[in-house]
Amino acid sequence: MHNNQLLSVDKPVRYLGGEMGAVRKERAELSFVLAFPDVYEVEMSHLGLRILYSVLNDVEWIAAERLYSPWPDMEKLLRAGKVPFTTLESGLAPVRADILGFTLQYELSYTNIVNILDLSGIPLLAKERDETFPLVIGGGPCAYNPEPLADFFDAFLLGDGEEAVVEIAATFREWKRSGRSKIDLLQDLASIAGVYVPSFFDIRYDNSGRIAAIVPMKEEYRRIRRRFLADLNAAPYPAAPVIPFLKTIHDRISMEIARGCTRGCRFCQAGYVYRPARERNPERVLELVEETLRNTGYDDISLLSRSSGDYGCIGPLLKTLMSRYADERIAISLPSLRVGTLTRELVEEVKRVRKTGFTLAPEAGTERLRRAINKGITEEDLLANAFAAYGAGWRLIKLYFMIGLPGETREDVLGIAELAKKVKLEGRRAGQGGDVNVSVGTFVPKPHTPFQWEPQISVEETREKQQFLRQELRLRKLKLKWQDAPTSFMEGIFARGDRRLGKLLAKAHELGCRFDGWGEHFSFDAWQQAFAATGTDPLFYHRRRDFDEILPWDHLDCGVTTEFLLQERECALQGSATRDCRNGTCTLCGVCDFQDIRMRVNNPAEACQEPPSPELPPAQPDEGSARVRLRFRKTGAMRFLSHLELLNLFIRAVGRSRIPIRFSQGFHPHPKFSFATALSVGVESWAEYMDMEIAAGYGADEVKKRLNAVLPECIEIMEAHEIPLRAESLSVIMEAVRYRVTLPHELLDLPRLVADFMALESYPFRREKKGKSQEIDLRRELVELKPDVGRLEMLIVKGKPLEFAVAITGLAAAELADARIEKLAVTFKQ
Ligand code: SF4
Repeated sequence: MHNNQLLSVDKPVRYLGGEMGAVRKERAELSFVLAFPDVYEVEMSHLGLRILYSVLNDVEWIAAERLYSPWPDMEKLLRAGKVPFTTLESGLAPVRADILGFTLQYELSYTNIVNILDLSGIPLLAKERDETFPLVIGGGPCAYNPEPLADFFDAFLLGDGEEAVVEIAATFREWKRSGRSKIDLLQDLASIAGVYVPSFFDIRYDNSGRIAAIVPMKEEYRRIRRRFLADLNAAPYPAAPVIPFLKTIHDRISMEIARGCTRGCRFCQAGYVYRPARERNPERVLELVEETLRNTGYDDISLLSRSSGDYGCIGPLLKTLMSRYADERIAISLPSLRVGTLTRELVEEVKRVRKTGFTLAPEAGTERLRRAINKGITEEDLLANAFAAYGAGWRLIKLYFMIGLPGETREDVLGIAELAKKVKLEGRRAGQGGDVNVSVGTFVPKPHTPFQWEPQISVEETREKQQFLRQELRLRKLKLKWQDAPTSFMEGIFARGDRRLGKLLAKAHELGCRFDGWGEHFSFDAWQQAFAATGTDPLFYHRRRDFDEILPWDHLDCGVTTEFLLQERECALQGSATRDCRNGTCTLCGVCDFQDIRMRVNNPAEACQEPPSPELPPAQPDEGSARVRLRFRKTGAMRFLSHLELLNLFIRAVGRSRIPIRFSQGFHPHPKFSFATALSVGVESWAEYMDMEIAAGYGADEVKKRLNAVLPECIEIMEAHEIPLRAESLSVIMEAVRYRVTLPHELLDLPRLVADFMALESYPFRREKKGKSQEIDLRRELVELKPDVGRLEMLIVKGKPLEFAVAITGLAAAELADARIEKLAVTFKQ
């Protein structure tokens, strides 16, 4: 039966697959499911998973497929058995995969991991899974302390995944061919650098509940050092990524210009576990940008790194990108500019980019506390940057701070409000005015940082500080955004948690916890019940740790030594700074071997010359415009695409196929498209029409050929012809639409029902939509009606085919939910 169940969920396009760039392999030897424990649009913005998808699919014998957490409305359908839970590419049930690899991005996604296993029918506990189940592995920032997840996973990967993930797949393939047992597989995996098999360690606890010992079960497998990717220039980059239909969080090219930050902010885990700093050569960046732009049709590039202003050649790189792509209206953004890196040269360049909010992250309100956390920025720097940003045309500066940092006093919290006010005044001084938004997070001590031994502040203290800050900011006419205290509380438990938390996770999942990072789904009450049911004392995980205490992640080595972390902690107490090693002085953190693993940053004197222009296709001479009318089909799964998603798809397709489209004038130019009407979601169509304005002389046949080469399977241009530039628009000349409705049940007396309806003079119908009521006469809007076996074919002027079907058959709309509706043709005025 035609299944329209997806019409009942929010954003059905999340579950469709078939996007441009998606890879479907029919007969690969190994299936590797990349599972993301969050909703589709969050994952599709995530560069790490895009990299792994591309690296794995580049191997001929591997089929990498994507799987996401279903939104709660979809989970209901899945649990009711109305739709299957499968990957997007081939509809593979996760339980049939060879490897199920989870991205571990943040602690509040852990219950979603449990939920994916559960929905897949895979036993939750690794020890309950034999060779017939997929190998369950995880990687990402949370793998540096994956202990709360240890019960559920067979293995974790610590560190950079590009090379290791293929080695894991190859090891699995060998093992699968050999027909050996699962323990053999785990043994083989443990020999891969960076792979941690938790079941090869026994954790013992003392009477106080602290870890008494981490006992290795294999003599030669005692400590797992993270995996390092030596050189970013040689690293694979997904230049032809999947292009989502849906507007995602970051709907643009994410170009990683550098990995690793050595600034050494003492609260920041990423600043330790991604060391050393490795920059991509600007020439390589430009090559990749060009290739990706052509493959995707995106018009926005984001230069990613922990601190893009630190990139050795940022000024020249921006300048080159700007001059190459300004004519194509391609915007460039720098999401992570650090205070102090906004030079005059950079301001001149960023002035030309599209201006969204400008974020500065002083993290602490006073100079004293900023020194203690090694943030290394003075108030003077910050205000100078704010002045420059306002002067460059930004209207809004977002300031990001933390409360609860070690050693924080009331003056430090007050300092946040005072500093924010001073930033606002810089806007006035710059002569532009300008606003400030203050965001405050709660400090959560993270493993592998100098603050890993520190306590976390309580929910009560967090709320009290937030309240105090809110009042102080209100007095200064500034607004505060803060993270809810209970979510930081939960994050803190899992960040430094141990293996015993597996039971808590399983219980919380049973009690309905999902999407804990999403305010609307997070239930602190359910978590409290889970604490009580499992006898978990959450404060045990928030407490200060003794220096001689065994920490749950002590056997996991991110490269930075404990001695260095302790030394940094001491410096925090003294308020003394540790310099960034990128400036030439190694501070002996322990990461580099100074051969393969070493800092690789661009030397501005050598690498930052203007690179030669790539072979760009000749620009289209602007010798007038032509208008092309297209008829296309939108069938099969593409019926779930909304009008906005369809528009987005065509914008990308035109960019990708390099059709010389014309743009509207103005601040935000748009490609000149117009559609006849917006087709309802769920309706298939063989007669969608759109007009497109392109360069004269390009030709309608060429438009059709090029678009069909990049459009997904179920969207196809059927006809294209040129029309006069000033021809009347589609919406004006449309007269009537022919539909076919295939009913979900056969109705024996359909011919009689049709005859009865046609005999009516009128059939008034009231439609309620968004609080408004509209009345139409369905009979008068109906031009023709023909019954067929189980089908109605109708020609209508106005109205929705399903409304007509309900009126004609007398069935309730719910009974027709699975009817197949096709738009067959449009008649136009002569
Ligand atoms: S070992 Fe030295 S050069 Fe390498 S990341 Fe650490 S501090 Fe920097």
